[in-house]
Formats: sequence, structure tokens, C-alpha cells
Amino acid sequence: MIVGVLKETYTNERRVAVVPRDVSKLKELGFEVLVESNAGKLAYFEDEEYESEGARIEDRKYILSNADIILKINPPETKEVEYIKDGALIVAFLYEWKNEELKKAVLEKHIRYLALEKIPRTTKAQFVDVLSSQATLAGYKAVLIAGELSPKLFPMLTTAAGTVKPANVLVIGVGVAGLQALATAKRIGANTFAYDIRPETKTEAESVGAKFLQSPVIVESKGGYARELTDEEKQKQYQFLKDNVARMDVVITTAQVPGRPAPKIITKDMVDGMKKGSVIVDIASDNGGNCELTEPGRTIEYNGVIISGPLNVPSMLPITASEMFSKNMFNLLKLIKEHPEMDDEILEAMLVKGGE
Ligand code: NAD
Repeated sequence: MIVGVLKETYTNERRVAVVPRDVSKLKELGFEVLVESNAGKLAYFEDEEYESEGARIEDRKYILSNADIILKINPPETKEVEYIKDGALIVAFLYEWKNEELKKAVLEKHIRYLALEKIPRTTKAQFVDVLSSQATLAGYKAVLIAGELSPKLFPMLTTAAGTVKPANVLVIGVGVAGLQALATAKRIGANTFAYDIRPETKTEAESVGAKFLQSPVIVESKGGYARELTDEEKQKQYQFLKDNVARMDVVITTAQVPGRPAPKIITKDMVDGMKKGSVIVDIASDNGGNCELTEPGRTIEYNGVIISGPLNVPSMLPITASEMFSKNMFNLLKLIKEHPEMDDEILEAMLVKGGE
């Protein structure tokens, strides 16, 4: 079985799906490993390191047409599908709602595709869950970005020059990224607050020392995910959040609804009510953002409020992000080796099928 690791081509993408240290482990499992030249360069992994772990460096077309399993982070381009072997397997994100043509091309060529965004969000699937490993990093980094942009100190400080009060940091969306953001902000001394519409997030937020702002809108989750709110629920949420947001120094937003643009939670009007020098870090920016004023990919200042919309935040920590992604990939390949017919509940859930 030949496994091919391709270089990522998206702008802002510095990660690589497999790091050198996992190549020798894949070989122990019986895989031959091909790596595209410079695949790990932007994450500081050189071709020589891959070679010394037993990989062969090849060009992209060779890998596309010879690999039995193609490993990537972002989806390949539709035009590349023609080079891929019939019956091969691609493991990568697909986001089929925005890549219908790619999905069609893949299915027509009888190429199997395991879509990483379809990983079940269960404890059992944690060992392959790239969504969680990458979201954890995004949550951590969001706090560092906020700290860098904020004109105020995060921790309380008692000095001869007076006592500095800790910053108030609100995290909206307490999924994996939000929880890590809360834990990180707490660790550097901020006063932390959490908001989410899934009731189970209360105990999770409190377990990392945050004060939970009890939402007037409660949504029972489906597979752990939230749904889009009705107009009436949005209005209730707005009324509740407006005053709470106004007393914060930093707001970190991470809210997502699968397959939909990110919900707009912070309105222009709410930003108008914020203190000058407050900071919003909107890590839902890849999906449009949770703040009406977010400009994805940019940091702007509006009426004295600094609003940052960083894109692909895990890629800002390319070494750790690639190492964690690679570990998840290795675990997934082990599972695939044990279940080549995809007769496993995790693989079954990830397998892209026609007519969905
Ligand atoms: P996500 O990225 O889909 O969303 C982030 C958060 O935004 C969610 O908590 C969601 O409730 C919240 N949100 C959506 N709309 C909102 C709104 N209008 N207002 C406020 N908040 C809103 O979430 P995720 O981090 O991918 O996590 C998804 C699920 O997977 C969670 O239930 C999580 O507990 C679960 N999970 C479970 C395990 C496990 O080991 N069992 C591991 C990882 C994740």
C-alpha cells in the first residue's frame, strides 16, 4: 500500500498532514510513504527529515497517480482527480456543501473519500479527531492574539504603582476552541466569562474556572452541535448579550453551526456599546465570522474597538498543528488497515457517498 502526502496549496496554509516522525511508524504498519517535495517546508519539516525516516520525495503528479491513499488537509483540486488512480482513497477535509464538483468527480471515478469534517464527535473517535486537535490550538492562539492587540494587561497586578484589575474576557461558543480559550485566558490571569446556547457547556466552562452567563436561549444539541437560531431566539440572545458584551475588555468568538455560515452574534450596535480599547477576536472568520463588523483576514479598528478576524488560526502554529494532525492521521491509517472495507462506525460515518 502506497501512502502519498501532498503539499498544501491554499493561501494561509502552513501545515502538513504527516510529519517526519510518523513516517517510520507508517512504514512499521507496512505502508510505503511518498511525500511531495517541500510538503513540510512551511511547518519547518525539511525533505531530508522525511527521507531519513524512510519516505521517498516525489513530485505531485507522480504521487497523485501512484498512491493508494492520498493524505491531505484541505481538499485536492477537482482538476487533479483525473490523475488519481481508480479505487484510490483520499483522506482530507471535503466540505461537500461547497465542493460539489469535486465530490461528483471523485464518485464518478470510484475514488473513495474520507471527509475529515464528518468524524463523529464522540469520545471513541477522539484518537482520530482532527477537528478537536486543531480547534484546541485555535482557542489557545485566539487568546494570545487578543493579548497582543489589547491595550490592557490580562492579570491582576499589585505593585507600588497601584493595583491593576484583571481584564474581563468573554468567550462566546464553548466548544473545543472556546474551552481552550477560556482555560488559556484564565491561566494568564484574566477574569473569564462564557456564553453558549447548549446547556451542557455550563459545567464544562465552570470546570476551567469561567463564570457562565446563563443564556435565555437553550438549544438541545444534535451530535454535539448547535443549530441556527430562529429570529425570535436571535432577538432574545441579542437583548441578553448586549449589556454583557459592553462590560468586557476582550470578546473571543468561536460559534459555529455545521454546514452553515457562522451565526452573526455580535451586531454593530453591540460594538457601539463597547468600551474604547476593547478587543474582539473572531475565530469563526473562516466561515464569515460571528461579528457583523469582522473583516475576515484583517484587523480593523471601529470606533475605538479593535476587531480581528484571523483566518486558519491552527496554521499559525504550524509545527504543533501538523504534529497533532499527523498523529490523528496515523491513528486513522491504523484503523483503515484494520478495516479495509470501511466496516467500522467511524470510517462509515466519514465515507463520502452519492445522493447525500
Ligand atoms: P463548533 O465549532 O461546531 O461550535 C462551537 C460552539 O459554538 C458550540 O459549543 C456551539 O454550541 C456554539 N454555538 C453555535 N451557535 C451559537 C450561538 N448562536 N450562540 C452561542 N453559541 C453558539 O463546536 P465544536 O468545538 O466542534 O464541538 C462540537 C461538539 O463536539 C461539542 O458538543 C463537543 O462537546 C463535542 N466533542 C466531544 C468530544 C468527546 O470526547 N466526547 C470531543 C470533542 C468534541
